Amino acid sequence: MFESFLTHFSRTPVILIWVLLALAAFVGSLLTSAPYGRHFRDGWGPAISNSLGWVLMELPALLLVPVSFWLSQSTNIVHVILATMWSVHYIHRTLIFPFRLRTKGKQMPLSVVLMAVGFNFINGCFVSTVFFMDLQMSGSLVLLGILLFIIGMIINISSDYHLINLRNANQGYAIPRGRWFEMISCPNHFGEILEWTGFALVANVTGPWLFVIWTAANLIPRALSHHHWYHENFPNYPKQRKAIFPYLL
Ligand code: NDP
Repeated sequence: MFESFLTHFSRTPVILIWVLLALAAFVGSLLTSAPYGRHFRDGWGPAISNSLGWVLMELPALLLVPVSFWLSQSTNIVHVILATMWSVHYIHRTLIFPFRLRTKGKQMPLSVVLMAVGFNFINGCFVSTVFFMDLQMSGSLVLLGILLFIIGMIINISSDYHLINLRNANQGYAIPRGRWFEMISCPNHFGEILEWTGFALVANVTGPWLFVIWTAANLIPRALSHHHWYHENFPNYPKQRKAIFPYLL
């Protein structure tokens, strides 16, 4: 029954609608920055604690994909690799990252949390379809994907904690310096896009590629908003620095 529920997500019209929604989210986020973190503002309804918001938003992703893997009872090595990659990322994102944030007292709109819960549920269903497919394994794609995922994760996590640690000496925001930050304002977002591209290369089927499209649709506008925010708030912000892709954007 669960498998037949998931097969609805592999139908072409559903996929098309999902891609069109990603495009709409991309354009919408270019027009107005998503109201959490430094872009938090009134007018988005009731708000809850920032850390709790992160846990609730990511919980469906943490649970749904590993449970689907378990229900599939697959022993396919690529399935095991994908379930492991996913779990490592989401255990960190859901159970560790929210408690390392130095944003005590900061809030996030409940509406943003609910939209993210909905997104993570649908995205989790798309990704879970991989466990019910016979994947055609290409050794070189799998290796390349794992490498990209690991590099992306290192860039993502180390940049997130570099930013979080800026709050040590300074309670407000500061200009991040060093490593990837000399080239781009948001290496954490760049690393996250690399991660999910690596994941999609390993699976090389539709569901994970849709997640890459959505990740880019969310994170490219967010990085551009952060980048503009830095320029508005720090007159001495490095001029040569790009927003998210080194030398490009
Ligand atoms: P940010 O870069 O805005 O912030 C990360 C943390 O560092 C926050 O606690 C933030 O505080 C703090 N911080 C950021 N910049 C500074 C600074 N210059 N000085 C001091 N503190 C700073 O990250 P996002 O909220 O945009 O994203 C967090 C993570 O979630 C990232 O890893 C991102 O890739 C991931 N993500 C993934 C998405 C996806 O679609 N897959 C979608 C959205 C996020 P504060 O919150 O107060 O600004």
